[in-house]
Amino acid sequence: MSVREGSLEAPTRHPLDWLNPDFYDETSALAEMERVFDICHGCRRCVSLCNAFPTLFDLVDESSTGEVDGVDKKDYWKVVDQCYLCDVCYLTKCPYVPPHPWNLDFPHLMLRGKAIQFREGTPTRFRDTQLASTDRNGTLAGIPVVVRAVNALSHNSTVRGLLDSQLGVHKDAWLPEFTSQQFRSHAAASKPHPVKDGARTPGKVAIFATCYINYNEPGIGHDLVKVLDHNEIPHVLAEKEACCGMPKLELGDLEGVKALKEKNIPMLARLARAGYAILAPIPSCGLMFKQELPLMFPDDADVIAVRDAMFDPFEYLVARAKDGLLKTDFKAELGNVSYHIACHLRVQNVGQKTREVLQMVPGTQVNTVERCSGHAGTWGVKKEYHEVAMKIGRPVFRQMAEHPAGETRWIASDCQLAGHHIEQGMQNAGKDVEGKLAHPITLIRLAYGLA
Ligand code: SF4
Ligand code: SF4
Repeated sequence: MSVREGSLEAPTRHPLDWLNPDFYDETSALAEMERVFDICHGCRRCVSLCNAFPTLFDLVDESSTGEVDGVDKKDYWKVVDQCYLCDVCYLTKCPYVPPHPWNLDFPHLMLRGKAIQFREGTPTRFRDTQLASTDRNGTLAGIPVVVRAVNALSHNSTVRGLLDSQLGVHKDAWLPEFTSQQFRSHAAASKPHPVKDGARTPGKVAIFATCYINYNEPGIGHDLVKVLDHNEIPHVLAEKEACCGMPKLELGDLEGVKALKEKNIPMLARLARAGYAILAPIPSCGLMFKQELPLMFPDDADVIAVRDAMFDPFEYLVARAKDGLLKTDFKAELGNVSYHIACHLRVQNVGQKTREVLQMVPGTQVNTVERCSGHAGTWGVKKEYHEVAMKIGRPVFRQMAEHPAGETRWIASDCQLAGHHIEQGMQNAGKDVEGKLAHPITLIRLAYGLA
């Protein structure tokens, strides 16, 4: 049978077969890696996306045969380690994804590798699980006396040297500060707006705050609340909240993902069935509910209900505008905005909704940069990957600085962690970034003239 180059049908994605005992069988996983790596070696389309593909192609090119069969299977793990599961190769590049008969899902194969590594235990497991415990870290560090010490220590060069040598957190990587004024306990209650459903949008919102907004940058959550209130959209907070599970997924800790899913999903499903749009202001958390959990639990009706109610905030605002229910009474121009679209938003397949809203603001020129920043959750702060993360981000740092309309007034990313990584990269390149980083929802709050 001849196999055509690329599939003509819309890509589909098979559920993650993680409950099948074969999923954790190393021999079987390595055989599948050999099959897939051989296809990738002949294709090479993804060479510029991340460091996983150059690592693979170098291994093949330097092998005795010049083919995948010449690569020692022990070295396959080097490829797995370089993947941070952004999904971009699957969703934007690969012509061989299902329904193509080659049935290639590179990120899920890398996830399978990570799950095997996690179950077997890796030398960096302690560091990795500490970094992935985002809600526990936030709770501890958010105790008022502790928070000042933690934030001060994260800027102390001796402490950073110790973190680097003892824990493997790169001494130069940007680390988030913690707040003692957590978003969930300080968010303003909704005003009593009447619910106005639109054809595309529920008229009431539940906010899934996310660990980052709750423990690190609550101001972004407060800005989202102000934008909703300005648009007369009643809102509530999801009543209890645990981490979405993305940091554990990135480690291959699938049982850890399941435990968090069991905390979040029943409560979110109740909100979904009560007619709320659920907004998650960090793209990775939204992606977890929209895509990763449904692929892990395809038969769970609650997971599917949450998937169908979950919106990126700007996806919601654009749909609200199409329903004729978004205010456009902007009071302030934003000027030149360099906007980075995060990979975990790109792969949600919703289009460039943040750019669309920013462009509604008069006197605003948006320079959209659609490329991986290299931060990738906790991956970019790890000692062994930070320099690669900065290298991957270099084209983004440059494009963010080179706004075609002149000097960049604002730098913004849907993913605030990527935003800080970009700010650091631009600063390292000698660019003036002082006071320029702002989350897009903050920019919309400013454009509305809301204090
Ligand atoms: S999922 Fe992202 S990081 Fe992993 S191989 Fe694909 S493009 Fe690279
Ligand atoms: S993931 Fe697909 S597009 Fe990318 S190198 Fe492999 S075969 Fe080619």
